[in-house]
Amino acid sequence: MPSYLQWLRFFWLPGLLLVLPLAQYLPWMDLGHLYNQQLPFFLLGAALVLSVLYRSSRVALAAGLFLLLYTAASLEFLPEQTQGLPLYLALTSLNLMLITCARDRSALSFIALAWLLVLVAQGAGILLLQECCGPLSRQFALESLPAWVSEGRDASLALPLLVCVVASAGAFIVFTLYPGPTVAGLFSCTLLLCYGIWNGLPLVSIVSAAGLFLILSLLGAGYEFAFRDALTGLLSRRAFYYHMLAPGRHYSLAMIDIDHFKKLNDRFGHQTGDQVLRMVASLINRYTTGRVFRFGGEEFAVVIPGRDRAAAEKALGDLRGKIAAYPMRLRATGRLRDRMIPSRSGQQIKVTVSIGLAHREKPLKKSDAVLKAADLALYKAKRCGRNRLCVHA
Ligand code: GH3
Ligand code: MG
Ligand code: MG
Repeated sequence: MPSYLQWLRFFWLPGLLLVLPLAQYLPWMDLGHLYNQQLPFFLLGAALVLSVLYRSSRVALAAGLFLLLYTAASLEFLPEQTQGLPLYLALTSLNLMLITCARDRSALSFIALAWLLVLVAQGAGILLLQECCGPLSRQFALESLPAWVSEGRDASLALPLLVCVVASAGAFIVFTLYPGPTVAGLFSCTLLLCYGIWNGLPLVSIVSAAGLFLILSLLGAGYEFAFRDALTGLLSRRAFYYHMLAPGRHYSLAMIDIDHFKKLNDRFGHQTGDQVLRMVASLINRYTTGRVFRFGGEEFAVVIPGRDRAAAEKALGDLRGKIAAYPMRLRATGRLRDRMIPSRSGQQIKVTVSIGLAHREKPLKKSDAVLKAADLALYKAKRCGRNRLCVHA
């Protein structure tokens, strides 16, 4: 998948929100009886514990934010609760958007605790404001609503809705720029708040659903930890083993190894080595049709489905040529993920790879045997001078 469409990978999370409107129309999906007053505490508490384990300050803060809101409502700290609720939800969505823009740190870091204080201060500010100015919902009511919004609704909904939609748009932009399960979860929560305000959902439903989304986002992060390689973003070796349990009847397996990578590390440093690994990974991803895995170190595995041997050989031969011809330029500045050690900035380096390829065919039927054959072909490519493709005979 091209990098600019990576966010589609995490779209299952906001996509789950479709259950909410569906539940309205299907009586057997009526979720009302699932909610009880304690449920938000369980779900948000679980999200908090998981966020500490996963070191996700953003999810911890979001869970803390919803817990504050719900606790304040439960203890009847929020005056004019039903009337003013959309305003509190809108403020929550703004905070969520800001949390989405922040960087993840340990959930127990100093900055995360400082954020939490800011959230508590906001709550205190609201109480003070209500004391001196009266109900906020009346202060912030916008009377000139378009007919389709105001029909059957309170004028005081306009501003909260507007704020919530802007916050969701902001969170969506962050989601497309920095896709990941955490941002997807936070973006889902902002959408949930829009939906809650629009349909006048009770607070317990909104906060319970938010807790569930935060837990799901952490489970999504857990999946990424287990099955994705942190450096290259490719599928990991664990994912490779699972894939090879049922790889299909016809496939080709290529093992790709960067040539003389140790020398490159020794000469330019490990940071440069890491960047080269990322570049090679992205070239393999771009120019092959199969599933690409980081097998380990500077080795990659590609599983190409189908029985067309010639097409697989041509694709991998082309890939080898493209990597060899690709001018890898070291950069000191620019995007964070491309940052290089400064002394080498602007310098161009050439990298080559050796590829061993094996097809699943008699007598190579078991995936272990195909892997071994691809490995043997790779060693042959190395022995024959590197920067070449060898096919297992
Ligand atoms: P050959 O052409 O025979 O493959 O030689 P090579 O130097 O590429 O192979 P060798 O196995 O001797 O060295 C692999 C090196 O890859 C050693 C290790 O430092 C480096 N390496 C492995 N993983 C990483 C990583 O994640 N980042 C960086 N920078 N280097 C890595
Ligand atoms: Mg190697
Ligand atoms: Mg190597």
